[in-house]
Amino acid sequence: MEKPVRNYWQLRLENLKEVLKSNNFEVFMAGDAREAGRMVMDKVLPKLAPKSISWGGSMTFVATGLYDMLKGYPDAQILDTFDKSLSPEESLERRRESLLVDLFITGTNAVTRSGELVNLDMIGNRVAGITFGPRNVVVMVGRNKIVEDLDVAIERIKDYAAPTNAMRLNKKTPCAKTSVCEECKSPERICNSWTITQKSFPKGRIKVVLINEDLGL
Ligand code: SF4
Repeated sequence: MEKPVRNYWQLRLENLKEVLKSNNFEVFMAGDAREAGRMVMDKVLPKLAPKSISWGGSMTFVATGLYDMLKGYPDAQILDTFDKSLSPEESLERRRESLLVDLFITGTNAVTRSGELVNLDMIGNRVAGITFGPRNVVVMVGRNKIVEDLDVAIERIKDYAAPTNAMRLNKKTPCAKTSVCEECKSPERICNSWTITQKSFPKGRIKVVLINEDLGL
C-alpha cells in the first residue's frame, strides 16, 4: 500500500516544488527523513560554507538526523538552542543570538499549495529567523504539512498542531487537557506570533526541503 501513497505524494511534491520555486524559494526533494538530512549536509552546507549555524524548534529537523550531525560539525560555530544545560535566561539569550547566524534551520507548521509557509510561534524565534536575520534559512517539510490554502493552514495549526505541541511540551493550557483550542490567556499559551511567508527575499535565501514522509506535528 505504501507504493501508491508514495507515488501520490511524489507527484504532489514535484508540483509544489515548481510553485515554491516560482515564489523564489530554493527547493530540494528527499524520499525520507534521513535522505533529507544527508542532502543538507552534502549539498547545502558545502555550497554555503556557513561560519555559524543554529536552529529553531522542529521535530522534523531532529528526525532527519541533522541535529545529531550538526552538534559535532567542526567547520562552523554551533549555537545549540536545544541545549538542556542552559538556564532559562541563557536559553533565551541563545535564541536571540541564533537570529544572526549564517544558516538557520527549522520546520514549518504548514505549506499551502500556493507555496506559502505558515507558522505560529510561542517565543517567536522560529518565525523571526525565517523572516529576517540569518543569512540563509533551511526549512525541513514533511509531506503531512501540505494543505490546500491559508484557511486550511490556519485551521490545521489551531485545531491540531498547537494542541498536540502543547501536549508534547507539557504546557498548562486548556488544549493540552481537552485537545480543543479555547483561545486561552494562559501564561503558557504557545500561540503568539503568526507568519505567512509568501516568497523568499532575497531570492534563494530560504531553502525548502520537501520530504516524502510524514514528519512532525
Ligand atoms: S491559544 Fe491556548 S488553548 Fe488555543 S491552541 Fe494555543 S495554547 Fe492551546
